[in-house]
Amino acid sequence: MPTRDPHRSLEDELHAVLSDTSHLLPEDPASACALAERLLRECPGHPVATLQLAAGLARLGLAGEALPQFRSALRADGRLAAMPWAETLDAGADGPSAWIGEFAEASCPCCGGAAAEPIWAGTLADRVPGAQHLDALRTWARCAGCGLVRVLRPPSDAALQTYEAAAAVGAHAPGPLPPDEARLHAALLRHEQLLLRVRATLGTGAAGRPLRLLDIGSGWGDRLAAAKWAGFEVVGVEPDPRRRRWMERRLGPLPVVESLAELDAEPFDLVLFGGCVEEEDEGILLLDGLGSLLADDGLLVLHVDLLDHPVHRMRGYDDPIWARPNRRIWFERRTLTESLQVVGLAERAAWSDEQQPGGTWVLAGRAA
Ligand SMILES: [Zn+2]
Repeated sequence: MPTRDPHRSLEDELHAVLSDTSHLLPEDPASACALAERLLRECPGHPVATLQLAAGLARLGLAGEALPQFRSALRADGRLAAMPWAETLDAGADGPSAWIGEFAEASCPCCGGAAAEPIWAGTLADRVPGAQHLDALRTWARCAGCGLVRVLRPPSDAALQTYEAAAAVGAHAPGPLPPDEARLHAALLRHEQLLLRVRATLGTGAAGRPLRLLDIGSGWGDRLAAAKWAGFEVVGVEPDPRRRRWMERRLGPLPVVESLAELDAEPFDLVLFGGCVEEEDEGILLLDGLGSLLADDGLLVLHVDLLDHPVHRMRGYDDPIWARPNRRIWFERRTLTESLQVVGLAERAAWSDEQQPGGTWVLAGRAA
Protein backbone atom coordinates (compact mmCIF):
# COMPACT_ATOMS: atom_id res chain seq x y z
CA MET A 1 0.00 0.00 0.00
CA PRO A 2 1.63 3.32 -1.08
CA THR A 3 2.40 5.78 1.67
CA ARG A 4 0.80 9.19 1.44
CA ASP A 5 3.16 12.10 0.82
CA PRO A 6 1.98 14.74 3.31
CA HIS A 7 3.97 17.53 1.63
CA ARG A 8 2.54 16.74 -1.74
CA SER A 9 -1.03 16.52 -0.51
CA LEU A 10 -0.72 19.80 1.38
CA GLU A 11 0.61 21.56 -1.69
CA ASP A 12 -2.08 19.95 -3.82
CA GLU A 13 -4.65 21.22 -1.39
CA LEU A 14 -3.38 24.78 -1.52
CA HIS A 15 -2.92 24.77 -5.27
CA ALA A 16 -6.46 23.51 -5.68
CA VAL A 17 -7.61 26.43 -3.58
CA LEU A 18 -5.39 28.92 -5.37
CA SER A 19 -5.67 27.63 -8.92
CA ASP A 20 -8.20 30.30 -9.80
CA THR A 21 -6.18 33.44 -9.17
CA SER A 22 -9.15 35.68 -9.87
CA HIS A 23 -10.55 34.80 -6.46
CA LEU A 24 -9.21 34.90 -2.94
CA LEU A 25 -10.23 31.58 -1.45
CA PRO A 26 -11.37 30.33 1.00
CA GLU A 27 -14.00 32.98 1.59
CA ASP A 28 -13.16 33.27 5.26
CA PRO A 29 -9.87 35.23 5.57
CA ALA A 30 -8.94 33.55 8.86
CA SER A 31 -9.18 30.15 7.13
CA ALA A 32 -7.20 31.47 4.17
CA CYS A 33 -4.45 32.66 6.54
CA ALA A 34 -4.41 29.34 8.41
CA LEU A 35 -4.14 27.38 5.16
CA ALA A 36 -1.36 29.63 3.85
CA GLU A 37 0.54 29.41 7.15
CA ARG A 38 0.32 25.60 7.05
CA LEU A 39 1.95 25.51 3.62
CA LEU A 40 4.57 28.09 4.60
CA ARG A 41 5.63 25.85 7.50
CA GLU A 42 6.20 23.06 5.00
CA CYS A 43 7.50 25.19 2.14
CA PRO A 44 8.97 28.41 3.58
CA GLY A 45 8.84 31.30 1.16
CA HIS A 46 6.31 29.67 -1.16
CA PRO A 47 5.28 32.72 -3.23
CA VAL A 48 1.63 31.78 -3.76
CA ALA A 49 1.14 30.97 -0.09
CA THR A 50 2.91 34.20 0.89
CA LEU A 51 0.62 36.22 -1.36
CA GLN A 52 -2.45 34.48 0.03
CA LEU A 53 -1.29 35.06 3.60
CA ALA A 54 -0.78 38.74 2.80
CA ALA A 55 -4.22 39.04 1.22
CA GLY A 56 -5.83 37.19 4.13
CA LEU A 57 -4.16 39.45 6.70
CA ALA A 58 -5.28 42.52 4.76
CA ARG A 59 -8.86 41.24 4.70
CA LEU A 60 -8.65 40.74 8.47
CA GLY A 61 -7.75 44.43 8.74
CA LEU A 62 -4.12 43.68 9.73
CA ALA A 63 -2.51 45.97 7.14
CA GLY A 64 0.73 46.37 9.12
CA GLU A 65 1.27 42.58 9.16
CA ALA A 66 0.17 42.19 5.55
CA LEU A 67 2.66 44.68 4.10
CA PRO A 68 5.90 42.67 4.68
CA GLN A 69 4.19 39.54 3.33
CA PHE A 70 3.16 41.40 0.20
CA ARG A 71 6.72 42.66 -0.24
CA SER A 72 8.05 39.09 0.02
CA ALA A 73 5.49 37.83 -2.48
CA LEU A 74 6.21 40.62 -4.94
CA ARG A 75 9.95 40.03 -4.66
CA ALA A 76 9.36 36.41 -5.64
CA ASP A 77 7.40 37.43 -8.75
CA GLY A 78 9.90 37.18 -11.60
CA ARG A 79 8.14 39.82 -13.67
CA LEU A 80 8.19 42.31 -10.81
CA ALA A 81 11.70 41.40 -9.68
CA ALA A 82 13.07 42.68 -12.99
CA MET A 83 11.57 46.12 -12.37
CA PRO A 84 13.59 48.87 -10.70
CA TRP A 85 11.06 49.06 -7.89
CA ALA A 86 12.19 45.62 -6.63
CA GLU A 87 15.33 47.32 -5.27
CA THR A 88 13.20 49.22 -2.79
CA LEU A 89 11.21 46.24 -1.53
CA ASP A 90 13.42 45.77 1.50
CA ALA A 91 13.71 49.43 2.31
CA GLY A 92 10.63 49.38 4.50
CA ALA A 93 8.81 51.76 2.20
CA ASP A 94 5.06 51.37 2.01
CA GLY A 95 5.14 51.54 -1.74
CA PRO A 96 7.35 51.92 -4.73
CA SER A 97 9.43 55.04 -5.21
CA ALA A 98 10.43 54.33 -8.77
CA TRP A 99 8.14 52.32 -11.02
CA ILE A 100 6.34 53.40 -14.13
CA GLY A 101 7.12 57.05 -13.66
CA GLU A 102 7.44 58.38 -10.16
CA PHE A 103 4.88 57.84 -7.44
CA ALA A 104 3.40 60.90 -5.85
CA GLU A 105 3.98 61.61 -2.16
CA ALA A 106 0.40 62.40 -1.26
CA SER A 107 -0.39 64.44 1.81
CA CYS A 108 -3.98 64.64 3.02
CA PRO A 109 -6.04 66.74 0.57
CA CYS A 110 -8.42 67.73 3.38
CA CYS A 111 -6.19 68.77 6.32
CA GLY A 112 -2.75 68.72 4.66
CA GLY A 113 -1.33 66.26 7.18
CA ALA A 114 1.33 63.76 6.12
CA ALA A 115 0.92 61.18 8.92
CA ALA A 116 -1.40 58.26 8.16
CA GLU A 117 -1.98 54.75 9.46
CA PRO A 118 -2.21 51.91 6.89
CA ILE A 119 -5.62 50.24 7.06
CA TRP A 120 -5.46 48.00 4.00
CA ALA A 121 -2.81 46.75 1.64
CA GLY A 122 -3.12 44.64 -1.44
CA THR A 123 -2.09 44.07 -5.01
CA LEU A 124 -4.06 45.05 -8.05
CA ALA A 125 -2.85 42.00 -9.94
CA ASP A 126 -5.89 39.80 -9.37
CA ARG A 127 -8.42 42.64 -9.40
CA VAL A 128 -7.38 44.85 -12.30
CA PRO A 129 -5.81 42.68 -15.01
CA GLY A 130 -2.81 44.38 -16.53
CA ALA A 131 -2.44 46.94 -13.74
CA GLN A 132 -0.06 45.07 -11.46
CA HIS A 133 2.94 47.02 -12.72
CA LEU A 134 1.04 50.27 -12.36
CA ASP A 135 0.54 49.98 -8.62
CA ALA A 136 2.01 46.72 -7.45
CA LEU A 137 1.43 47.27 -3.75
CA ARG A 138 -1.57 49.49 -3.08
CA THR A 139 -1.77 50.87 0.47
CA TRP A 140 -4.83 52.67 1.80
CA ALA A 141 -4.24 54.73 4.94
CA ARG A 142 -6.28 56.77 7.37
CA CYS A 143 -5.11 60.35 7.95
CA ALA A 144 -3.90 60.83 11.52
CA GLY A 145 -5.24 64.38 11.48
CA CYS A 146 -8.75 64.22 10.05
CA GLY A 147 -9.44 60.54 9.42
CA LEU A 148 -9.86 60.80 5.64
CA VAL A 149 -8.87 57.55 3.93
CA ARG A 150 -6.47 57.95 1.02
CA VAL A 151 -4.00 56.03 -1.15
CA LEU A 152 -0.65 56.58 0.47
CA ARG A 153 1.39 56.84 -2.71
CA PRO A 154 -0.76 56.97 -5.83
CA PRO A 155 0.80 56.22 -9.22
CA SER A 156 2.11 59.23 -11.09
CA ASP A 157 -0.20 61.19 -13.38
CA ALA A 158 1.85 60.06 -16.38
CA ALA A 159 1.43 56.39 -15.45
CA LEU A 160 -2.30 56.80 -14.85
CA GLN A 161 -2.82 58.59 -18.15
CA THR A 162 -1.08 55.78 -19.98
CA TYR A 163 -3.21 53.20 -18.17
CA GLU A 164 -6.47 55.08 -18.72
CA ALA A 165 -5.79 55.58 -22.41
CA ALA A 166 -5.19 51.84 -22.81
CA ALA A 167 -8.09 50.82 -20.55
CA ALA A 168 -10.55 53.10 -22.33
CA VAL A 169 -9.99 51.21 -25.56
CA GLY A 170 -10.82 47.88 -23.95
CA ALA A 171 -13.64 49.04 -21.70
CA HIS A 172 -15.72 50.59 -24.44
CA ALA A 173 -14.83 48.40 -27.40
CA PRO A 174 -15.70 48.78 -30.21
CA GLY A 175 -15.52 52.44 -29.18
CA PRO A 176 -17.82 54.63 -27.07
CA LEU A 177 -21.25 54.65 -28.65
CA PRO A 178 -24.16 57.03 -28.16
CA PRO A 179 -27.25 55.55 -26.46
CA ASP A 180 -29.90 53.85 -28.57
CA GLU A 181 -33.57 54.67 -28.00
CA ALA A 182 -34.04 52.08 -25.23
CA ARG A 183 -30.97 53.20 -23.29
CA LEU A 184 -31.93 56.85 -23.69
CA HIS A 185 -35.43 56.08 -22.39
CA ALA A 186 -34.03 54.23 -19.35
CA ALA A 187 -31.59 57.06 -18.65
CA LEU A 188 -34.33 59.70 -18.87
CA LEU A 189 -36.45 57.79 -16.34
CA ARG A 190 -33.52 57.68 -13.91
CA HIS A 191 -32.70 61.36 -14.38
CA GLU A 192 -36.31 62.44 -13.92
CA GLN A 193 -36.47 60.67 -10.55
CA LEU A 194 -33.22 62.29 -9.48
CA LEU A 195 -34.33 65.76 -10.58
CA LEU A 196 -37.65 65.41 -8.72
CA ARG A 197 -35.84 64.60 -5.47
CA VAL A 198 -33.24 67.28 -6.00
CA ARG A 199 -35.87 69.92 -6.71
CA ALA A 200 -37.74 68.92 -3.54
CA THR A 201 -34.57 69.57 -1.53
CA LEU A 202 -33.97 72.96 -3.10
CA GLY A 203 -35.27 75.90 -1.08
CA THR A 204 -37.90 78.32 -2.34
CA GLY A 205 -35.38 81.14 -2.91
CA ALA A 206 -35.55 80.71 -6.68
CA ALA A 207 -39.36 80.57 -6.86
CA GLY A 208 -40.91 82.41 -9.79
CA ARG A 209 -38.12 81.92 -12.32
CA PRO A 210 -36.65 78.94 -14.19
CA LEU A 211 -34.00 77.11 -12.19
CA ARG A 212 -30.51 77.28 -13.67
CA LEU A 213 -28.81 73.87 -13.85
CA LEU A 214 -25.20 73.13 -14.76
CA ASP A 215 -24.37 69.55 -15.81
CA ILE A 216 -20.61 68.93 -15.67
CA GLY A 217 -19.57 65.87 -17.66
CA SER A 218 -22.67 65.70 -19.83
CA GLY A 219 -21.58 62.61 -21.75
CA TRP A 220 -24.08 62.01 -24.56
CA GLY A 221 -26.42 64.66 -23.13
CA ASP A 222 -29.17 62.43 -21.71
CA ARG A 223 -29.15 64.09 -18.28
CA LEU A 224 -29.01 67.54 -19.85
CA ALA A 225 -31.96 66.70 -22.11
CA ALA A 226 -33.93 65.31 -19.15
CA ALA A 227 -33.33 68.51 -17.16
CA LYS A 228 -34.36 70.71 -20.06
CA TRP A 229 -37.48 68.58 -20.57
CA ALA A 230 -38.25 69.00 -16.85
CA GLY A 231 -38.19 72.79 -17.25
CA PHE A 232 -34.71 73.70 -16.07
CA GLU A 233 -32.62 76.35 -17.79
CA VAL A 234 -29.62 74.15 -18.61
CA VAL A 235 -25.95 74.45 -19.50
CA GLY A 236 -23.74 71.42 -20.10
CA VAL A 237 -19.98 70.91 -20.01
CA GLU A 238 -18.55 68.10 -22.13
CA PRO A 239 -14.95 68.04 -23.39
CA ASP A 240 -15.48 65.31 -26.01
CA PRO A 241 -16.33 67.02 -29.34
CA ARG A 242 -17.99 63.88 -30.78
CA ARG A 243 -20.42 63.74 -27.87
CA ARG A 244 -21.13 67.47 -28.11
CA ARG A 245 -21.88 67.14 -31.83
CA TRP A 246 -24.07 64.07 -31.29
CA MET A 247 -26.19 65.59 -28.51
CA GLU A 248 -26.62 68.86 -30.37
CA ARG A 249 -27.68 67.02 -33.52
CA ARG A 250 -29.90 64.33 -31.93
CA LEU A 251 -31.15 65.78 -28.61
CA GLY A 252 -30.64 69.49 -29.17
CA PRO A 253 -30.55 72.28 -29.36
CA LEU A 254 -28.66 72.07 -26.08
CA PRO A 255 -26.28 74.73 -24.77
CA VAL A 256 -23.11 72.80 -24.11
CA VAL A 257 -19.56 74.10 -23.77
CA GLU A 258 -16.19 72.39 -23.84
CA SER A 259 -14.89 73.52 -20.45
CA LEU A 260 -15.83 75.39 -17.28
CA ALA A 261 -13.66 78.30 -18.43
CA GLU A 262 -16.28 79.16 -21.07
CA LEU A 263 -19.08 79.75 -18.53
CA ASP A 264 -20.25 83.27 -17.76
CA ALA A 265 -20.27 84.45 -14.14
CA GLU A 266 -23.97 83.90 -13.50
CA PRO A 267 -24.38 81.38 -10.62
CA PHE A 268 -26.40 78.15 -10.80
CA ASP A 269 -29.23 76.84 -8.62
CA LEU A 270 -28.03 73.27 -9.27
CA VAL A 271 -24.58 71.99 -10.17
CA LEU A 272 -24.50 68.29 -11.13
CA PHE A 273 -21.02 66.80 -11.19
CA GLY A 274 -20.97 63.68 -13.34
CA GLY A 275 -17.37 62.73 -12.54
CA CYS A 276 -15.79 61.05 -9.55
CA VAL A 277 -14.38 63.49 -6.98
CA GLU A 278 -12.49 60.61 -5.35
CA GLU A 279 -10.44 60.06 -8.50
CA GLU A 280 -9.31 63.66 -8.81
CA ASP A 281 -5.76 64.54 -7.90
CA GLU A 282 -7.05 67.53 -5.91
CA GLY A 283 -10.50 66.31 -4.90
CA ILE A 284 -11.05 68.87 -2.13
CA LEU A 285 -9.96 71.76 -4.37
CA LEU A 286 -12.43 70.48 -6.94
CA LEU A 287 -15.24 70.60 -4.35
CA ASP A 288 -14.23 74.19 -3.62
CA GLY A 289 -14.40 75.08 -7.31
CA LEU A 290 -17.79 73.41 -7.76
CA GLY A 291 -19.16 75.23 -4.69
CA SER A 292 -18.07 78.57 -6.14
CA LEU A 293 -20.46 78.04 -9.08
CA LEU A 294 -23.51 77.91 -6.78
CA ALA A 295 -26.07 80.62 -6.15
CA ASP A 296 -26.47 81.52 -2.47
CA ASP A 297 -29.10 78.85 -1.86
CA GLY A 298 -27.99 76.56 -4.70
CA LEU A 299 -27.17 72.87 -4.41
CA LEU A 300 -24.20 70.80 -5.52
CA VAL A 301 -25.22 67.26 -6.53
CA LEU A 302 -22.52 64.61 -6.16
CA HIS A 303 -22.40 60.86 -6.63
CA VAL A 304 -20.05 59.19 -4.13
CA ASP A 305 -19.18 55.73 -2.79
CA LEU A 306 -19.03 56.02 0.98
CA LEU A 307 -16.75 53.59 2.81
CA ASP A 308 -19.25 53.16 5.66
CA HIS A 309 -22.27 52.67 3.39
CA PRO A 310 -23.85 49.31 4.31
CA VAL A 311 -23.16 47.82 0.87
CA HIS A 312 -19.47 48.76 0.99
CA ARG A 313 -19.24 47.56 4.59
CA MET A 314 -20.62 44.21 3.45
CA ARG A 315 -18.14 44.01 0.57
CA GLY A 316 -15.29 44.97 2.88
CA TYR A 317 -11.81 45.19 1.46
CA ASP A 318 -12.76 42.92 -1.43
CA ASP A 319 -14.74 45.81 -2.86
CA PRO A 320 -13.44 46.21 -6.42
CA ILE A 321 -13.54 49.99 -5.98
CA TRP A 322 -10.56 49.68 -3.63
CA ALA A 323 -8.54 48.52 -6.60
CA ARG A 324 -9.44 51.22 -9.12
CA PRO A 325 -5.97 52.43 -10.11
CA ASN A 326 -6.96 56.10 -10.37
CA ARG A 327 -8.80 56.32 -7.05
CA ARG A 328 -7.12 58.71 -4.57
CA ILE A 329 -9.47 59.07 -1.60
CA TRP A 330 -12.43 57.29 -0.08
CA PHE A 331 -14.92 59.31 1.98
CA GLU A 332 -16.95 58.09 4.90
CA ARG A 333 -20.08 59.96 5.92
CA ARG A 334 -18.14 61.92 8.54
CA THR A 335 -15.07 62.72 6.47
CA LEU A 336 -17.22 63.83 3.53
CA THR A 337 -19.09 66.19 5.87
CA GLU A 338 -15.78 67.57 7.15
CA SER A 339 -14.28 67.92 3.68
CA LEU A 340 -17.37 69.84 2.57
CA GLN A 341 -17.04 72.09 5.64
CA VAL A 342 -13.44 72.87 4.72
CA VAL A 343 -14.66 74.48 1.48
CA GLY A 344 -17.66 76.22 3.07
CA LEU A 345 -20.32 73.67 2.09
CA ALA A 346 -22.79 71.67 4.17
CA GLU A 347 -24.67 68.48 3.38
CA ARG A 348 -28.40 69.09 2.78
CA ALA A 349 -29.58 65.59 1.84
CA ALA A 350 -28.27 62.15 0.91
CA TRP A 351 -29.86 58.94 -0.36
CA SER A 352 -28.75 55.61 -1.83
CA ASP A 353 -28.60 55.32 -5.60
CA GLU A 354 -31.34 52.97 -6.80
CA GLN A 355 -29.31 52.01 -9.86
CA GLN A 356 -25.87 51.41 -8.41
CA PRO A 357 -25.53 49.30 -5.25
CA GLY A 358 -23.45 51.22 -2.72
CA GLY A 359 -23.64 54.52 -4.59
CA THR A 360 -24.94 57.57 -2.74
CA TRP A 361 -26.31 60.87 -3.99
CA VAL A 362 -25.19 63.74 -1.79
CA LEU A 363 -26.60 67.27 -2.00
CA ALA A 364 -24.63 70.12 -0.48
CA GLY A 365 -25.23 73.84 -0.25
CA ARG A 366 -23.33 76.81 1.13
CA ALA A 367 -22.79 76.56 4.89
CA ALA A 368 -24.88 79.04 6.87
ZN1 LIG B 1 -6.34 64.79 6.92
